[in-house]
Amino acid sequence: MESLTGGNQDMKQQLARNLQGLKLKDLDPVECEKCGCPTFVQVTLLRRISPVMNPTGKAGFLPIPLYQCSSCGHINDELMPRTDDEQ
Ligand SMILES: [Zn+2]
Repeated sequence: MESLTGGNQDMKQQLARNLQGLKLKDLDPVECEKCGCPTFVQVTLLRRISPVMNPTGKAGFLPIPLYQCSSCGHINDELMPRTDDEQ
């Protein structure tokens, strides 16, 4: 009998095994939802860190890498960092 408490760990190990056997043809391509272009370029989103939130007491920037369509520049919703459920 397997216990339920270890289930999460088992699932992670199984996922890791599955990823090792992945072939490119088995993966869903990601396409721009505006123009259908299948290639993306990495761009960097910057978030300003206010001096009061920064431990060093100075203003700063937090770089967030994300991908935009290499053709039209659109960024798919699924590729945008989530901001609404942050603490
Ligand atoms: Zn596009």
